[in-house]
Amino acid sequence: MYKKPLTYALATGLVLSPMSLPVDAAKPAPNEQADHAFDNKVIKKISADNMYNTIALLSKQPRAAGTEGEYKAVQYIKSEFERYGYETELQPFTIQEWDGGSAAVSFNGDAFTGDVHTFNGSINGSATGSLVYVGLASADEVGDEVAGKIALIERGSFSFYEKIQNVYDKGAIGVIMFNGEGQSGNAFGYAYEGQDIPTVAITREAGLSLVEQLTNGSVQASVNVENAGPIDKTSYNVIAKKEPHPNKDNGQIITVGAHHDSVPNGPGANDDASGVAATLELARIMAKTPTDTELRFVTFGAEEKGLVGSYHYADTLTDEEVENMVAHFQMDMVGSRDAGELIMFTPDGNKNLVTDLGASAGARISGAVDYGELGRSDHVPFFLKGIPAALFIHAPLEPWYHSPEDTLDKISKEKLQNVAEIVGSAVYQVARPDTPALENARVAPNPADYDFDDRPL
Ligand SMILES: [Zn+2]
Repeated sequence: MYKKPLTYALATGLVLSPMSLPVDAAKPAPNEQADHAFDNKVIKKISADNMYNTIALLSKQPRAAGTEGEYKAVQYIKSEFERYGYETELQPFTIQEWDGGSAAVSFNGDAFTGDVHTFNGSINGSATGSLVYVGLASADEVGDEVAGKIALIERGSFSFYEKIQNVYDKGAIGVIMFNGEGQSGNAFGYAYEGQDIPTVAITREAGLSLVEQLTNGSVQASVNVENAGPIDKTSYNVIAKKEPHPNKDNGQIITVGAHHDSVPNGPGANDDASGVAATLELARIMAKTPTDTELRFVTFGAEEKGLVGSYHYADTLTDEEVENMVAHFQMDMVGSRDAGELIMFTPDGNKNLVTDLGASAGARISGAVDYGELGRSDHVPFFLKGIPAALFIHAPLEPWYHSPEDTLDKISKEKLQNVAEIVGSAVYQVARPDTPALENARVAPNPADYDFDDRPL
């Protein structure tokens, strides 16, 4: 059987090849005016100020997945959806974080008073022995002399895994690592399964002082790691559903999404409070707009941890829901003053129904929108389920991507407005009650010419 997107695309002519276009395709088609009229039903209601105010509220603090900041954002988004009249669900899921427990180090019997950080993945346990400096701990630098001793290692040049494995293979009983040149702090390090010795990090300054001490004589060291291990935290997706008009239900579902979590060290005004703001704004408008298509507005948690929330959401869909989902629109980083032009990314770099609709809406509203190839956001799990999906984003990215500088003052209301108009019109093209009256060519969107762009991020 055909998947519904294919049926829709064929009926609307969106996937016609240039060969099969009618000879007068370049002329404005008779339905163009009708499309504009329909676009205006959505566009005229979009408020950039609403979106800006949402970003202002969400970007007051970081919203890293599993934190209080995320939970506050989730509660706000849920309450907004409910205020618009949506049936709204919080969908919890588990994410794993590393808890470093407590780490202590001593030298020649004296407790070390500087900061000690447990490597992610370190075993718990204690080890006492002579300290031996092995430089960067390349295989060449590490000899049998580390057996039964604690290895002091400088960070850099190759992986944590190799450094630890090299000393572990030679019988070291613990690792103390310090930062390389130009690196500050001590919050780093990963140990891996089977590397069964306690592993900790100290600052470069503290490490170099130990190297100095070792040139003057031996140092007895002990390393103790307690209560380190993975801990479960809860992140959430927020899902708002709008049923189609009961007499006009065409059985199709469109999803519109963004991610509400941020990186831990940034307020995430553009990444991705902007997408959440646009999602909420479109939800607000669509709540009062009759449709023949089920609409789902979803904000995902833990995108920054590897699309965890969207994978969870996609995994909870029934086969029937997947079959009925005709399009997923993902808006991630859609309001930066300092980023490039709008682009639509698909994970395989191919056009699909969503990019066709986005390009067509763009052409009607503000001009052509190019497409390109990129995963890295919540459109991926939908794509992997066979659902046409695309990421709407500005590229190249702004310089303060994933930094504490991703703040409200760098948000462009014009960009927010433009993306919300294009996505809103594209969604409404399918969801409005007179489409898909698939057989009715008068209401088909005009195919737009749009190009592949190998644009760097
Ligand atoms: Zn991000």
